[in-house]
Amino acid sequence: MIAIVGGGVIGLSTGWYLARSGERPVIFERGEAGRGASWASAGMLAPNMEAEPGEERLTTFLLEARRRWDKFAYELERASDISLDYRSDGILMVALNRDDVEYLRSHYRFQRGLGLDVELLDSDAVHAMEPYITADVMAGLFSKNDGHVDCRRLVTALKKAFIDAGGVLREHTEVEKIVVEDGKVKGVYCSSGFQSFEKVVIAAGAWSGSIGGLTAGVKPNVRPVRGQMIALGTSGEDALIRHAIWGPPRNWGPTYMVPRRGRILLGTTVEEMGFDTSVTAGGIFNILRGCREIAPFISDLPITEVWAGLRPGSEDDAPILGPTSVEGLYMATGHFRNGILLAPLTAEVLTECLIKGEMPEYARSFTIGRF
Ligand SMILES: Cc1cc2nc3c(=O)[nH]c(=O)nc-3n(C[C@H](O)[C@H](O)[C@H](O)COP(=O)(O)OP(=O)(O)OC[C@H]3O[C@@H](n4cnc5c(N)ncnc54)[C@H](O)[C@@H]3O)c2cc1C
Repeated sequence: MIAIVGGGVIGLSTGWYLARSGERPVIFERGEAGRGASWASAGMLAPNMEAEPGEERLTTFLLEARRRWDKFAYELERASDISLDYRSDGILMVALNRDDVEYLRSHYRFQRGLGLDVELLDSDAVHAMEPYITADVMAGLFSKNDGHVDCRRLVTALKKAFIDAGGVLREHTEVEKIVVEDGKVKGVYCSSGFQSFEKVVIAAGAWSGSIGGLTAGVKPNVRPVRGQMIALGTSGEDALIRHAIWGPPRNWGPTYMVPRRGRILLGTTVEEMGFDTSVTAGGIFNILRGCREIAPFISDLPITEVWAGLRPGSEDDAPILGPTSVEGLYMATGHFRNGILLAPLTAEVLTECLIKGEMPEYARSFTIGRF
């Protein structure tokens, strides 16, 4: 029997893959499944735009994950009968001054050096793609292979598909402790008492290091990294923006806008504030300031929701996956700012580990043993 601790996008997709393979996994979720970081996310699938110098190993893994998405979205929509609003129409980064243009050019050179399919655009080409954004745009960087998904629809669909495939979801049940004896997993101790399991997967997002019973070497060092978000209402008839649009880096944090049905999501902040999920005046101010520079029309749109979530950040900001030195104990955590993108690949890796007993070659450098 397999237990999964945490019912976010990672626990649910891993659970769904296992259930489809004939297992009957049990997901323990202390609240309502899908309401952690996965609910707060912008849902971008952006291995190209996320590529950063020094993170080439992670970029390769993110690209591998992106290749899974068409099939994953198709199968999940069929299994759940829920549309994910999955879009594969690319992400655009825009430059608003000369400094930004230089940044875009150097980012372009770096991305092309990695063989990524990105394109530099002049201001006319950017305006042809996005007619309503500021006339001040000087250039654009377009990554046509990136995309985005409605993460709230995603977790709702995963929850349904998981249960329909035979998985057991125990919501409002916190796992207090993993019980380990003689180097082997014996089960979990939760609010309803002890339950025996041969295998346990830690998929508790930013809280993964707080679960009892995990000792040195198998206690993931995962920290919460707060991200604030805003939703603006649109009339629904006119999308106003057609693609997800990123601003170039600013000293107050990353700026992006993501079109959804009837809404535009604006993000975000990257803050080390412990488990505090407050929405702050400074956070909201910086997001609006960055987005309004790109799209002055947002000033007239109503704010319909504000929220904050906690990204699970590992020591090197890459995920922690697969087996540990404790027999039967597995990790699926530390996905930081790419957990939505990495969900299908994580589910695949964990399913191979748990069922075939083998960590796929391409994922071996992401075990907890690397720290
Ligand atoms: C503002 C923001 C924007 C983001 N944008 C993107 C993006 O554009 N693209 C992208 O790919 N990623 C993005 N991310 C990151 C992504 O959301 C996360 O990496 C991903 O959701 C992590 O999923 P998870 O399942 O590990 O964690 P979570 O969704 O947080 O789920 C963990 C679950 O574990 C439960 N839990 C914790 N402890 C216990 C316990 N002891 N017992 C039982 N249950 C427990 C929690 O209640 C929670 O439901 C963003 C994140 C934020 C905050």
